[in-house]
Amino acid sequence: MMISPLRHVSGARFFSSHSYVQGFSAAIGNTPLIYLKSVSEKTGSKIFGKAEFQNPGGSVKDRAALGLVRDAEERGLIKPGGTVVEGTAGNTGIGLAHVCRAKGYNCVIYMPDTQSQEKIDLLRMLGADVRPVPAVPFDNPRNYNHQAREFAQNISNAIWTNQFDNTANANAHYLSTGPEIWEQTHGEIDGFVCATGTGGTLAGIGKYLKEKSGSKVQIWLADPPGSVLTSYVTSEGKLVERSGSSITEGIGQGRITDNLATFVNDLSGAFTVPDSKSIAMLYELLDTEGLYLGASSALNVVAAVELAQRFGPGSTIVTILCDGAYRYQSRLFSKKWLASKGLDQSIPLHLKKYAVL
Ligand code: PMP
Repeated sequence: MMISPLRHVSGARFFSSHSYVQGFSAAIGNTPLIYLKSVSEKTGSKIFGKAEFQNPGGSVKDRAALGLVRDAEERGLIKPGGTVVEGTAGNTGIGLAHVCRAKGYNCVIYMPDTQSQEKIDLLRMLGADVRPVPAVPFDNPRNYNHQAREFAQNISNAIWTNQFDNTANANAHYLSTGPEIWEQTHGEIDGFVCATGTGGTLAGIGKYLKEKSGSKVQIWLADPPGSVLTSYVTSEGKLVERSGSSITEGIGQGRITDNLATFVNDLSGAFTVPDSKSIAMLYELLDTEGLYLGASSALNVVAAVELAQRFGPGSTIVTILCDGAYRYQSRLFSKKWLASKGLDQSIPLHLKKYAVL
């Protein structure tokens, strides 16, 4: 009997090209590219979202987690039964915890003790050794990132994956997400835009699309409030102090990470998206497309609309749908929480019915 293909993209280079996939790692990637009808029709352009929430660990960071662990394996830095250590409060930790279970490694996650019990519980259910530490700034040696590095240095057969400055992160997207987008659009793409945390997604995809198109595809960075990257790009390299905050999680940055540094000079531009627009888009995408997305995905779609408007009708723009709303629903769909952020008025009247909590 023939086994029907589970995924509809052929020729996946980085992962698997069989009609079935061999285990968790091989189930990462080959995500659908979703045509976003409502925003496309409004702009007269074609706007697509890469459905990274369909990765088996639930986010775009599954690719980075696998890429970081694979790179360490290939360089002989970790042997069977070893330990993977990272400082992370979010999706990278979840991706690493899954990949470690699937590959038989121990997983140790350092995180600030301000994080929700839900996140800690999930990581522990996935078998990770979670170590909440006092939430102190990066320049304090007790910061969770430094503690993760030190812990890995002091035990044998252990690696600190260092997602921000280890360019195996961006390389995972160069080898997988970039080629998938090129193939899925048949190379007919004018612009790519997304927000960044480590910079891995933007840099890896950006590099691939620019190379493949002979620099015809423009790559733009979208930033949440409280991040310094827009001002860095638009002021040609001046870093300002970080100030302000955003409801989006996992994106925004106060420095140029090594991953972003591999591509930042090739960006066509950057702009900031206010939370009011991101939250309105989050509700609109649910209402019009049935997509239940996290706030960074909504910000990315706002940015894609803005880019389509800058390019004019007829353009094709791609962005990333990073993860689902499930990990944030107690906030994003709570009337009280929205009001506490001053965002209740940003949601159009006919969409308020979705704020049921
Ligand atoms: N959105 C979410 C929800 C994330 O967790 C992350 C990762 N921090 C990103 C976007 C940004 O991805 P990257 O680290 O590759 O820049």
